[in-house]
Formats: sequence, C-alpha cells, structure tokens
Amino acid sequence: MTSIKLADQGKRGGGKSGLTDIPNFIDGKFVPAISGATFETINPATAKAHGLVASSTAGDIDHAATAGQRAFESGKWSHLSYAERAGVVTRIGDLILANRETLALAETTDTGKPISESFDGDILRSAQNFHFFSQFASTFSEEAYTASENERHIAVREPVGVCGLITPWNLPLYLATWKIAPALMMGNSIILKPAEWTPYTAYLLCSIVKEAGLPDGVFNVVQGFGAASAGEALTRHPLVRSISFTGETSTGKAIMAAASGTLKKVSFELGGKGANIIFADADLDDAIATSVRAAFRNQGQICLAGSRLFVQRAVYDQVVEKMVALAKAIKVGDPTSKETQMGALISTEHMDKVLAYLALGKAEGQLLCGGERLTELGAGNFLSPAIFTDLSMQSRFLQEEIFGPALPILPFDDEEEAVAMANDTPYGLSASIWTKDIDRVHRLSRKIRAGMIWVNTWFARDLRTPFGGQKSSGIGREGGRYSLEFFSEAKTISYKYKG
Ligand code: NAD
Repeated sequence: MTSIKLADQGKRGGGKSGLTDIPNFIDGKFVPAISGATFETINPATAKAHGLVASSTAGDIDHAATAGQRAFESGKWSHLSYAERAGVVTRIGDLILANRETLALAETTDTGKPISESFDGDILRSAQNFHFFSQFASTFSEEAYTASENERHIAVREPVGVCGLITPWNLPLYLATWKIAPALMMGNSIILKPAEWTPYTAYLLCSIVKEAGLPDGVFNVVQGFGAASAGEALTRHPLVRSISFTGETSTGKAIMAAASGTLKKVSFELGGKGANIIFADADLDDAIATSVRAAFRNQGQICLAGSRLFVQRAVYDQVVEKMVALAKAIKVGDPTSKETQMGALISTEHMDKVLAYLALGKAEGQLLCGGERLTELGAGNFLSPAIFTDLSMQSRFLQEEIFGPALPILPFDDEEEAVAMANDTPYGLSASIWTKDIDRVHRLSRKIRAGMIWVNTWFARDLRTPFGGQKSSGIGREGGRYSLEFFSEAKTISYKYKG
C-alpha cells in the first residue's frame, strides 16, 4: 500500500508561519479562493489558530460546478462500470486506513473530540463508508416488467450529474464520506462544502482521492461559510442537480427555499432530541453505562444523542444516582490524550449557547452535577458533563436541541406516559428503549415517532438500513439502497417487439 505523506501536506505557511494552508480542490488541483480571502480555523482545545482556510464565494462554486459538469460529460467516471468505479472507491478506503493516525489527529485538532473517538470512530467509519458502498452498489438491482410477449419495460438508474454535499462540524469526515461514497459509486461528480469550523480532513481527503485515481473534476471541495456565501451559492447554482445536506433544521429550511429556484433534489439529515427510555425491568447496569455515553459522547454534540432520559419511577432514584456518579467520573481534558473521554466543544460561540441552556436549566430545574466551564484546563471550550432533574416537559431545555453535555432526567409511571414524553418534541430522529419485555418493545417501537429505534442499545448501525428522521429531523433517508437511489435518477425504457 502506497501512502501519501499527509502529515507534510499543507505546511506551506499560507502567509502566516506555522498555519496549515487549506485551499480549495477544484478540477484535480489545489487552488486558493478566487478572491484570495482566507479565514483562520481554530483548535477548540487550545483556542489557537492552526489553519488558514480558503474563504470561497459564488465564483469558486461556479468554477467547481463547471469542472464537475465537464468531468461528468466526459464520461471518464460517469460511464465506467460498477466494478471499475469500485476499484477506485475501495482504494480511497484503503488509503484512509493507511493514513488513519494523521487523519485522526487532524479531526481532533479541528473538532476538539477525543483522539480515541477520532481514531476508532470517525476515521475507521470513513474508510468503511467507501469499502461498504464499493461492494454494496454492485448489488443494486434495476427493474424489469414484462407486459406481454412483445412488450417489456425496464427501469434503469443513471447518475444525477453534479451533486452538492453540505456537511456539519460534529462528525466531519465520517458524514462527508457517508455521502461521497454512494455519490461516486453511482457515477456523479461532487462538490463538497465542509463546515467552516472543520475544513481539515476534507482537505486531506483530496490528496487521497487523487492518489486513488479518481479523474480530475469528479471530486471538488470548496471551503468556506454557509449563508450568503459558498454554501448558499452551491444550493442556487443551476448546474448542481441535487443537494445532500446534514446540519441544523433551520439551515435545512433555508436550503429548501434556496434550492427551489433551480428545482434540485434534496436530502436532509437534521437535528434531533432523542428519547432514551429506561423501564424498571431493564438490565440497569448496561442501560446506565450506555445512557452516559449516549448523552456525553462527542461532548453531547451528536444528532443521535440520547439527550432526554426518561426513567420508570420504581428505579428512578437508583438510576439517577448511578448516572451522576458515572458523569462525575468522566475524564474531561486534552483531546490528544488517549485517556480523555470528553474533549472541547467546537467553538466559543457554541459553548456560549450551551452555557445559556445550562443557566436556563439551573433557573428552572435542579442541577445534579457538572454544568461549569473548566477554565483550569486553559483557554479551550471545556465544560463538565451536566445532569438536571425537576424540569418541565414544556421547558426549552426539553424542547430544543442543545447539542452539548447537558442531560435532563425525568421520571414516568407507565408505557403510555413514556410514549407521550418521547413524542413531545418537534424532532423525530432516534430513540432508545431499555426493557426485557418483548411485547412492550413491539408496542413502543411502533408508537414512537422517530426514524430509528434502538432496543437495549444505542448508536448501533448496519449501513444497509435506512438512516434518517421524521418530523423536523429530516427529509429522505441515507444508507444502503436509499443513498444509491438519492444519488441516481430512475429512467424507464419501454420496448415493443415485432414478430
Ligand atoms: P449548520 O446547519 O449550522 O451547518 C451545516 C453546514 O451547512 C455547514 O457546512 C454550513 O456552512 C452550511 N450552511 C449554513 N447555512 C447555510 C445556508 N444558508 N446555505 C447553505 N449552506 C449553509 O449545522 P452544524 O452546526 O454544522 O451542525 C450541527 C447540526 O447538525 C445539529 O443540528 C445536528 O443535530 C445536525 N446533525 C444531524 C445529523 C443527522 O444525521 N440527522 C448528523 C449530524 C449533525
């Protein structure tokens, strides 16, 4: 396995010594923003700048869209067989694994998440996304209908063209590759606009994609901001035929409006406020240990987080006591240390938003642990994991997505109440149910309005299954054939035979 020297890439100064230069990647080349503008990207754990990023605008999107369309029309990628595409896509996954340490460190530097999560979670899963879709796409069957002896109809799948991908900062490479791999396997050209807070691993991926042998112009990365900037320009560009977006619900609404002008296909993976329901008959040790992870992994910045914990009254005191003890034992600190379990929040702006929710929780409910800024850890955005009780279901604390280490725990008496509490949210992404009663599992998993229900587990995924949310949590599904369908157009061809 050849391995590119990602570690050395980009240390070109970018006009400011020591900062990694993070340009765009268009038509197979690294290029600055047309305006020459850049912005600094900050390490959330140290509050120091580590990169200088291209600040792109509509002109850069136009450059990428034109290159993507040219590559698409050339047929150098769009006309290849599944097997030929799979060769390149598999190599991308292999090269990610060969560069796993460098990519994990880059992800931790950008996001502030513990290095163990970057290495064992984000980067491993990014490679798996390519390995999975390179194989799975060849099993994607088309349709044929025989109407009579001399009339047949077939439905084939064709690539969409230039696809716009817009991704968030919480799982940067993991979520970008979840879109890139199926889009490539279906023969499309891509423009990726990573979140402005986390440009680093998308930039490193460009060299990997090039080394893997993807033709120039098929994969483009345009760095920069969202509203009134590169992201919005992508959603308005006429050559871009679809937008796959993961991010906040409010941004999804803005993108839907902007993309309507050019009638793009859209797929939205949006916010969540997951219910985590523990019944008295559950395996409590497993339920409690997993619920702590579900609330605080990635500093609570996961759309699938179990961010509302409901516990049956008979075991409520016991569960609360153990949750608090485990939360207090979480090791918060330097995300590059292998022992660290919680790192820094993405930005001071986001930390301030979470601190405002913590103040709300303290005013309206009872704080049981944490909820403080840990200034003794330096200038980074460190918070201690917080658990609250005695909050009302109507509180903004229970209704809005906080996206931080702040967990409310509330008691319930029976199934009916648990279902009502789980559904009392605008969101509908995921929920967990902890119980040994299989009939109850069946009843609840049908009544809870969420795209994904976990039973006696959390975060378990099979990449073939549909992934996505109901209500304000999204439109459409990703995963397996759902991704392949989104990144392709169906075409019906009808045959009439003579003789
Ligand atoms: P965000 O919506 O602020 O930004 C996401 C991306 O959209 C960024 O690249 C940003 O630059 C871009 N953007 C912002 N405004 C835009 C506009 N008007 N037009 C085009 N692009 C625009 O989200 P975030 O803060 O980066 O991420 C956190 C959110 O993402 C949370 O709500 C979380 O629940 C959600 N999320 C959902 C899933 C899921 O699978 N459902 C997964 C991860 C994160």
